[in-house]
Amino acid sequence: MDDQAGPLDPGGHLAEAAADCVHCGFCLPACPTYQLWGEEMDSPRGRIHLISQVLDGAPVTEKVITHLDRCLGCMACMPACPSGVRYNELIEAARSWPEEAGTGAGPVQPGAARSARDRAMRAAIFATFPYPKRLRALAGPLRAAQRAGLDRLAQRGPAARYAPELAGSLRLAPRSSGRQGRLPARVPARGPRRAVVGMLTGCVQQVFFGGVNTATARVLAAEGCDVIVPPGQGCCGALSLHSGRPAEAARFAERTIAEFERAGVDAIVANSAGCGSAMKEYGGFYAHAAEGERDSLAARAVAFSGRVRDFSEFLAELYREHGGPRAARHELNAITAYHDACHLAHAQRIRQQPRDLLRGIPGLNLVEAGDGGTCCGSAGVYNLLQPEAAAELGQRKAAALRGTGARLVVSANPGCSLQIAAALAADGGEPVAVAHIAEVLDASFRGLPLSALGVAPG
Ligand code: SF4
Ligand code: SF4
Repeated sequence: MDDQAGPLDPGGHLAEAAADCVHCGFCLPACPTYQLWGEEMDSPRGRIHLISQVLDGAPVTEKVITHLDRCLGCMACMPACPSGVRYNELIEAARSWPEEAGTGAGPVQPGAARSARDRAMRAAIFATFPYPKRLRALAGPLRAAQRAGLDRLAQRGPAARYAPELAGSLRLAPRSSGRQGRLPARVPARGPRRAVVGMLTGCVQQVFFGGVNTATARVLAAEGCDVIVPPGQGCCGALSLHSGRPAEAARFAERTIAEFERAGVDAIVANSAGCGSAMKEYGGFYAHAAEGERDSLAARAVAFSGRVRDFSEFLAELYREHGGPRAARHELNAITAYHDACHLAHAQRIRQQPRDLLRGIPGLNLVEAGDGGTCCGSAGVYNLLQPEAAAELGQRKAAALRGTGARLVVSANPGCSLQIAAALAADGGEPVAVAHIAEVLDASFRGLPLSALGVAPG
C-alpha cells in the first residue's frame, strides 16, 4: 500500500479504494449523470479512472474538474457495486483538489481552476448557508423578490440564460417562514420517559424549515422522549464535507460534538438525510489530525457518530426496544409517494423504516415511484451549482411521482422537498403537496386534516 502513497494520498488509502474497481460497469445504469448524458467520464467508473490518474501524478485539468463537479454525490453507485468500492471516500477527497486551486497546495493545472463566477457562487454559498444569522438576513429579501414575481421572471428572462444559478436560487427558495419553528432548549416527554435525545436543528433547516423541526420534536416527545435542543449548535459540516472542504467540515464537527457532549443524551437525532449521513462520518474526520490531538478528538468523534440516528431509524429502534409505538395515529386518507433521499437510502441504507412509519398511519395508501429511486437533483447545493442538470433530474422525478397518482409526496430531507416541490410546480400539473415525514406523523398524531399538510381537496 505504501508504494502507492503520494502527496495527495499519504497513507495510500485512496489508491487502494480506487484499485478495488474492476471496471465491470454494473454501477453505470444506477448513475443519474450517466443516465442524463451517457458519457463514460460522467459515470462512477469514469470518475474513478480520472481520480486514479491524478493519484498516479496526472494534473487536475479543467476536464477532470468538470466531470467531478457534475457528480451529485448521491452514492447510488455504491449499493450497485459488487466490489464494494468506497466511492464516497474517493469523491470527497477529489472534490477538495479544485478547492485548493490558488492556494498552492493542490495539484490543479495552471489555468484550469474553476471560473471566477463559479468561485464567487461557491464563496457566497459557504459564507452564508452554514450560518443561520446570515441566512436569516437573506430570507427577507428573497421573499420580497418572490412576492414581486421576480422568481417567475428569472425563469424566463435573460437571468435564466446569463445567471442560471440566480434563477435556480429564486426558483428553489422556500416561500414560508421557518420562524414558527423556534424550539425551547428542552421539550419534555409525554408520559413516562423512554429516552433522552438530542436534536440537530441544522443551519438551513432552522431558518427555512422551522416547522419540520417543531414537528420532529413533537413526534419524539409524543413517543416518550425528552428532546434536548442544544442552543449553541450550528451547522454540522455536511455541506462543507460534501463539497470538498474537509477542514471547514472538521471545525463544524468539533463544535457540534462539544455541544451534544454537554447535553448528555442517549442519541442524537437528525431529520435531514445529508446531516445525519455526515455526522455518522465524523469518526473518520480526525484520522489525520495532528498528533496529540488525534486520539482524544478521534475517540470523541467515533463515540458521537455511534450515537447519531436518522429520525425514522431512531423511532424504529425505540419501538423495537420499548414495546412499540405509544402515540395514537389518526387517519390520513391520501395516496402518498415516499421519495428516498440519496443520503438516507444509499449513504445510510435506510429505506424500510420510513416506509414502515408511513404504513402505520391508518388510511395512508403508500405507493412507489417507478424510477428506481433516482436522485431528484437536489444533492446539497448541486441544484445551485449545476442548475441545468438539476432541473432535468427534477423534471424526471416530477414525472415519475405524477405517474403514481399521489396527492402527497413525503421525503426525509428538506433539500429534496424543495427540489421536488419546485419541479412539480413547474410542470403545470395538478397540485401535489410535499411534506417531511415528521410533519406527516405529527399531523396524524394530532388528528389534523390533510389540508394541514398542504394537500388540496380532491
Ligand atoms: S455519486 Fe451519484 S452521480 Fe456520482 S458517480 Fe455515483 S451514482 Fe453517479
Ligand atoms: S460497479 Fe464497482 S467495480 Fe464495477 S465499474 Fe462500478 S465502481 Fe467499478
